[in-house]
Amino acid sequence: QLYRMIQHGKTPKLKINAQSKGKGTVPTFNTVAVIKGSEKPEEYVILSAHLDSWDGGTGATDNGTGTITMMEVARILKKNYPNPKRTIVVGLWGSEEQGLNGSRGYVWAHQDQMPNVQAVFNQDNGTGRIANITGQGFVHSYDYIGRWLSAVPNELTKDIKTTFPGFPGGGGSDHASFIAAGAPAFMLGSLSWSYGNYTWHTNRDTYDKIVFDDVKSNVATIAIMTYMASEDPEKSSSERIKMPVNPRTGEPAKWPEVKEPTRKGGLD
Ligand SMILES: [Zn+2]
Repeated sequence: QLYRMIQHGKTPKLKINAQSKGKGTVPTFNTVAVIKGSEKPEEYVILSAHLDSWDGGTGATDNGTGTITMMEVARILKKNYPNPKRTIVVGLWGSEEQGLNGSRGYVWAHQDQMPNVQAVFNQDNGTGRIANITGQGFVHSYDYIGRWLSAVPNELTKDIKTTFPGFPGGGGSDHASFIAAGAPAFMLGSLSWSYGNYTWHTNRDTYDKIVFDDVKSNVATIAIMTYMASEDPEKSSSERIKMPVNPRTGEPAKWPEVKEPTRKGGLD
C-alpha cells in the first residue's frame, strides 16, 4: 500500500512503535496424538508436521498448513476408521526451526519404534497441493508408495511427480530425522505458490496466504495413503539403496546419521 501511495505521488508519514522483550529460554514441546492399532499396534504410520514457526509472521504456511492438514486427517480417520490395523501417530514437532529438534527428540526417545515404522508422511513446504514425492533412497519404495497412491483418485494424483528410489534427505524438514534412523519417511512436497521467495520465514507468512482448496486436496490424499499404509498386508521395506560414489573423493556417500537433538535449541 505504501509503495502504491508513493507511486501516486502521496508522501505518507509513518510512526512505528515496535516493542519486543526477550523472555529468556522457554521450553518447547512435541504434540503427539495416537490412534492405537487393533491388529498390529506395534507398527506405526506417522503423520508429521511442525508446530513451531519463524518469528515475523504467524507461520501460516510454515508450518500451519502442514499442522492443520495432519489434524484434519486425524479427525477424518478417527471418525471413519477408528480401529486402524496399525497404530497411527500424529506428531506435531516443536523446535523444528532450530534444527529438527522435536522430531529428533522423538526418534531418539523411540528408537525401538523405528524398525516398525510402516511410513512417515511429512508436510512442510507451504500451502500447495502435493506435487512431488521421492523414494528417499528406499529401494522398494516404488512398490508400496505406488500401491498406496493408486487408491487415491486420479484427479488428486495426476500432477504428482514421483522419483524412485531417490536419495535420502539429510535435512530441511522432519522426515530427515526418521530417514536417518532407517524408517521409511517421505516428504509430500507441495506446489510452490511462491513459498520459497515470498512467505517462507518472512513477515508475510500469514493466514491470508493459505490456499484452502489445495490444503483440502492434501487432506484427502494423505488420509487415503494413511489408510492404505495402515491396512497393507505387507510391512514396508526399509532396504536402502547402495549409496553412489562421490566422483571427487572416490568414496561412497554416507546414509545420513541419527543426530541427538540440541536440547537447548542451539543456545548454550
Ligand atoms: Zn518449516
